[in-house]
Amino acid sequence: MYLKRLDLQGFKSFPEKVKLEFNQGVTAVVGPNGSGKSNVSDAVRWVLGEQRAKSLRGDKMEDVIFAGTENRKPLGFAEVSITIDNQDQKLPLAYTEVQVTRRVFRSGESEYRINGTACRLKDIQELFMDTGVGREGYSIVGQGRIDEILSAKGDERRRIFEEAAGIVKYKTRRNEAASK
Ligand code: ATP
Ligand code: MG
Repeated sequence: MYLKRLDLQGFKSFPEKVKLEFNQGVTAVVGPNGSGKSNVSDAVRWVLGEQRAKSLRGDKMEDVIFAGTENRKPLGFAEVSITIDNQDQKLPLAYTEVQVTRRVFRSGESEYRINGTACRLKDIQELFMDTGVGREGYSIVGQGRIDEILSAKGDERRRIFEEAAGIVKYKTRRNEAASK
């Protein structure tokens, strides 16, 4: 499983449609300060279901929508699609390529799709559970995250190991069953 492609439209500093293709192995994103490098990694976390505007370096979710510049009007929605190569079937779906899409409008309403079919945020969270990908996954290591893990308290650190061990979905299902 690897990140194949990222499509952005109206997300933060990307008003126009942008397609970023990635290969297996290491990809480095380089550019001057303020050119949008961190916005690319924000887009990955956002499309995977990030709900905390602060963690996307904004105050409210609307801040991910292109806000306009001197000679360009603000946009009404932002959309990001992430395409993952799933030839190894690490994601529990019978597709060799999985595309997850999220769109948000200024009203705050979000829409999610998996391979073009509308779904719930929960479906996306479940799809990536225990894969290391996803909002809480260890596949994205943000600034300060290493320190956070090192200084984490027992419970919090255990959650990181549980995700790596692949047992989060069982715990989630058990808790759901227990609360019914
Ligand atoms: P650095 O090297 O300093 O880390 P960077 O390449 O990571 O920089 P980003 O933080 O990704 O840069 O991009 C910051 C830019 O994105 C700023 O110019 C900011 O104005 C712009 N930006 C963020 N949100 C929006 C938005 N909603 N609409 C338009 N521009 C935005
Ligand atoms: Mg940055």
